[in-house]
Amino acid sequence: MEFILGPKEKGCVFCNRVRRKSDRKDLIVHRGKTCFVILNKYPYNPGHLMVVPNRHVSSLTQLKPGEYGEILTLMARAEKVLGGAMRPQGFNMGLNLGKAAGAGIDDHLHFHVIPRWFADTNFWPVIAETKSMPQHLLATQNLLKKFWK
Ligand SMILES: [Zn+2]
Repeated sequence: MEFILGPKEKGCVFCNRVRRKSDRKDLIVHRGKTCFVILNKYPYNPGHLMVVPNRHVSSLTQLKPGEYGEILTLMARAEKVLGGAMRPQGFNMGLNLGKAAGAGIDDHLHFHVIPRWFADTNFWPVIAETKSMPQHLLATQNLLKKFWK
């Protein structure tokens, strides 16, 4: 809970991560040309990744052609990497556009790639009692980085 109750980060959390290049601490798994892949600090499930354009845009209509392509390429890559590393039985993938649609950060697009297992927990109880698991997240980051190569 300290994680959540701690001081709120100033500025855009995604733009901050693009700029500061501390990938280990920031749980970044891969950097592409126009987008990056990062573990969600508050995962719905283990291995919950996000594909995020480097540019601060809030709508699909603001993306450039190269960004569309790379987002989909990295989502496919995430499917493959998570498939190899964690053997999920399915995925939820997509984005929440706007606060009304459930976006926690609504001013910088991010696409979720969430591995699912038949026996996994339902999303909402997990969110309601979000646990901070920095060690688990670092171990997951190591695992996924290995598979990403
Ligand atoms: Zn941003």
